[in-house]
Formats: sequence, structure tokens, C-alpha cells
Amino acid sequence: MSKYIGPKCKLCRREGEKLMLKGERCQTAKCGIVKKNYPPGIHGPKGRATRQSGYNMQLREKQKAKRIYNLLEKQFAISFARAIKQKGDTGENLLKILETRLDNVIYRLGMADSRAQARTLVNHGHFKVNEKKVNIPSYNVEPGDIIKVRESSRTSKQFANLAEKIKKIEIPGWLNLEAKDFSAKVLHQPTKENFEMKINAHVIVEFYSR
Ligand code: SF4
Repeated sequence: MSKYIGPKCKLCRREGEKLMLKGERCQTAKCGIVKKNYPPGIHGPKGRATRQSGYNMQLREKQKAKRIYNLLEKQFAISFARAIKQKGDTGENLLKILETRLDNVIYRLGMADSRAQARTLVNHGHFKVNEKKVNIPSYNVEPGDIIKVRESSRTSKQFANLAEKIKKIEIPGWLNLEAKDFSAKVLHQPTKENFEMKINAHVIVEFYSR
């Protein structure tokens, strides 16, 4: 599956906020947006538009969500198409689809430093869901699902210090991690309060409704 391989900090600078794409570095003074809080490009600090049209606002919100969840245009559009087909509020459906992706869950559990790293770990087959190996990053977990690091992967450097690693992060209330067992349970669907980043999903729905 193709993925964005360009500079990540440029994406944050384009959106004008931290999208937390680089793990620990995002919390330090080396963060691209701390050093250069203006859009990338030849115009430098004067490049930020002072007024945004309705369309531009909708576009930027869609781009922001897409970048946070490390998706390409087509992958994001597929998620939106699925959200429309579900009952209820399309914006909320979209956020739930994005948040319950297996790669995002692995990131939120502290098993990876970023969503990009989580995707690689899932692709490499390090996890099981309900005792079956799953290597599809877009796999959506459901309430009651049990996610485990596979036995053969538990001694790897990535997972060896899991208990220590998770002390630094806040695991959202819809997930319950048992670090000593390298496993986690999905307690319920994520709610608005459980999202790490603020995304205005209704603006994204407006974008696709044009
Ligand atoms: Fe974004 Fe992280 Fe780069 Fe900061 S360090 S600009 S939050 S990716």
C-alpha cells in the first residue's frame, strides 16, 4: 500500500498545528512547528493567509484529519464512504472508523511512537485480534475484541519495555491495556472525549457534500 514519504513536519506547518506525527520529537523544542510556525514554501513567515474561505476551511480540516491518521486521499475517501453508509451522524461515524483502525489502536495503546510506526508494526504481523493474526492497518476493532502482541514478537526491542513506555502516555478510556500480558481489550466504541486530536468532522462532511 502506498504511503506519504515526504517531510512530516511540513504537514503540521501547513495545517498550522501540531499533528503529532513524529513521536517523542513532537514534545521537544526540535518540533518543526516550534522552530518555524509558518507554512512551508518560499513566502516564509508571511505565507499564512489571514482570511480563509469556507471551502478552504473545509479542505484544511479534511487534510488535517487525513494527515493525523496517516492516510492518502483515496484511503480517506473510502473511510468517508463507509461513514455515509452507516446509520447515525456521518461525522461521528467517520471519526469512529478512523479511531478504531488497528494501526491507530496500537498507537493509542503506547505500543508505537506514532501512527506511521504503528502501521509498519501491523503490516509486519506483530498482532493478533481475537487470537487471529491481523496485518491489515485499516482493520476496525469492535467492542469486546482482544488485541495481543504475538508471542514471537514479545521479546523484540519494540515491546520489551511496554510497561515502562505506557507510564508516559494516557490510554483512552475505551481501551484497557494489560501490559504484563501484552494484550488489550476494546471496552466500547470511542466517544468524542476519547479522541486525541480535535477534528471538526462536520466541516469534513460539508467538504464532501459540495
Ligand atoms: Fe508535527 Fe511532530 Fe514535526 Fe512537531 S515534530 S512539526 S508535531 S511532526
